[in-house]
Amino acid sequence: MQNLPSGRTTSADLVAAYPHAAILLDSDGTVMAFNASALLLFPLLHINQPLSFAIRNPELLDSVESAGRTAHFLEIVERFPVERAFKVSVMQAGATGILVVFDDQTADRRLERMRVDFVANASHELRTPLASLLGFIETMRGPARNDFVAQAKFLTIMEQQGKRMARLVDDLLSLSRIEMNASIRPDDKVDLIGVVRQIIDALKPIARERDVTIHVDPHVIDATVLGDRDELLRVFENLIENAIKYGASGKRIDITIRLQGERDILVVVRDYGPGVPAEYLPRLTERFYRVSVVASRESGGTGLGLAIVKHIVARHRGRLDIQSTPGEGCQFSITLARSE
Ligand code: ADP
Repeated sequence: MQNLPSGRTTSADLVAAYPHAAILLDSDGTVMAFNASALLLFPLLHINQPLSFAIRNPELLDSVESAGRTAHFLEIVERFPVERAFKVSVMQAGATGILVVFDDQTADRRLERMRVDFVANASHELRTPLASLLGFIETMRGPARNDFVAQAKFLTIMEQQGKRMARLVDDLLSLSRIEMNASIRPDDKVDLIGVVRQIIDALKPIARERDVTIHVDPHVIDATVLGDRDELLRVFENLIENAIKYGASGKRIDITIRLQGERDILVVVRDYGPGVPAEYLPRLTERFYRVSVVASRESGGTGLGLAIVKHIVARHRGRLDIQSTPGEGCQFSITLARSE
């Protein structure tokens, strides 16, 4: 907090107490006080210097000049050093002062953009199989009306596309359900060894189909954690299914379950497939992000599996780590709090 010349301490205290960045000016636009948040945003701010030395936005400077008793609001975007958007209110304060308050909208805008992108991505993902379904219906009514061999082939593809849409809708619903409950930490007792074995049993047919063997190595007798059993089943289903789908060329998957420190259980799912180049790793858990869209579609993926894993693990206050050496495979590690 920068102190004011004596006699103005009250207004300066007020500025310091503001939860947002706030600057107090004299009637001619000279800086009289500002708080720490304002200095973070505008490092060139100095007491007794014109505001225009620190902020160049002409719209804001104009509105300071014409400040009146009633507050007026404007939206400004500062582009340096990084782009940030603010809702700014400018109003008279006391007899001659002008108070400028900056409400940072950057995070809200980013969230809004993510929401819009998400809706656009989800619609696009649904539209692709839908267009293919409609196309086949038209063909079966028209040129292939009497071609029963072609019709049988089309029906198989239509079934696949329909199933893909159903999977997508299921994944979208799961995501929104998990997000809705994000603040409630699940606290049932769940035996992770049982969860992992159940998933391996369920995935055995597709592992066999791709000639992959799965080895489980529990280094602990009791791997009970606090959690939601259904959600943890989804986590290991997604990770082990991905290891089978994308890591099949490695022929082997190793799953280890061990104690991590005193309080946690660590489960590592390791495959020996092609792995993922380092630059893609941070994006794997983004919704709809896929290293290869074709490979993901061919294996029935929706691009939402790892986003679901991330959200479930976050809801459990656990940790997800992804490591990979291209050519040597991937390693997904999940850490969850042990149940005492
Ligand atoms: P998908 O439905 O495409 O499988 P995921 O969210 O589960 O969606 O995974 C996102 C992407 O991460 C996949 O499309 C794939 O490119 C990559 N990926 C996930 N697991 C592995 C793995 N074990 N080996 C190599 N790539 C993987």
